[in-house]
Amino acid sequence: MNRAIFVDRDGTLIEEVNFLSKPSQVRWIPGVLERLAQLYRQGWQIIMVTNQSGVARGLFTLEDVQAVYAFMQSQLEEYGGRFQAMYCCPHHPQFSLTEAERHCSCRKPQPGMYLQAQKDWDLDLKRCVAFGDKLSDLQGPLQLGCRAFLVGTGYGAAERLQIDPARYPQLEFCSDLSAGLELLLPAPEPLLKHSSP
Ligand SMILES: [Mg+2]
Ligand SMILES: [Zn+2]
Repeated sequence: MNRAIFVDRDGTLIEEVNFLSKPSQVRWIPGVLERLAQLYRQGWQIIMVTNQSGVARGLFTLEDVQAVYAFMQSQLEEYGGRFQAMYCCPHHPQFSLTEAERHCSCRKPQPGMYLQAQKDWDLDLKRCVAFGDKLSDLQGPLQLGCRAFLVGTGYGAAERLQIDPARYPQLEFCSDLSAGLELLLPAPEPLLKHSSP
């Protein structure tokens, strides 16, 4: 079974832009590309999990979301990393046209996208780690037994003030995704001591 890093897109991987729809709007959080590539080389699968209700609202299309993903994938590949997959909920409880879409099981905070990823990639959820800038990114992962980190970027700092720590004792915090990913790197080898002649 595999281990994965689940990452939210807006406010976590990249700077929050209201209803981002174009690759030219992508601004990576500093250090993220390097760290993701490092962890990828150590056998972590990197899986993007994103709500994009802008599709349901008619602000952009699923093809636009795919184009942003393809662009982000090409940038991560330049660093030697790779996203295993992107899971995207394009629905919204008010704006989607069909009843089924309004009541979808993929929109975070529901765990649907994480469960789908678990099946698709044979993941051991106990060894998976999720990062997001909203509690709703992390409620699913926490239910499923993953480690979960709220980042301080995007909505994260404001969100943290609203969270009752007694209700989410397992929730962890990091200043940004890069700092959080660093915690997943293996501890460096201790330096061998050389005795001087
Ligand atoms: Mg977000
Ligand atoms: Zn959905």
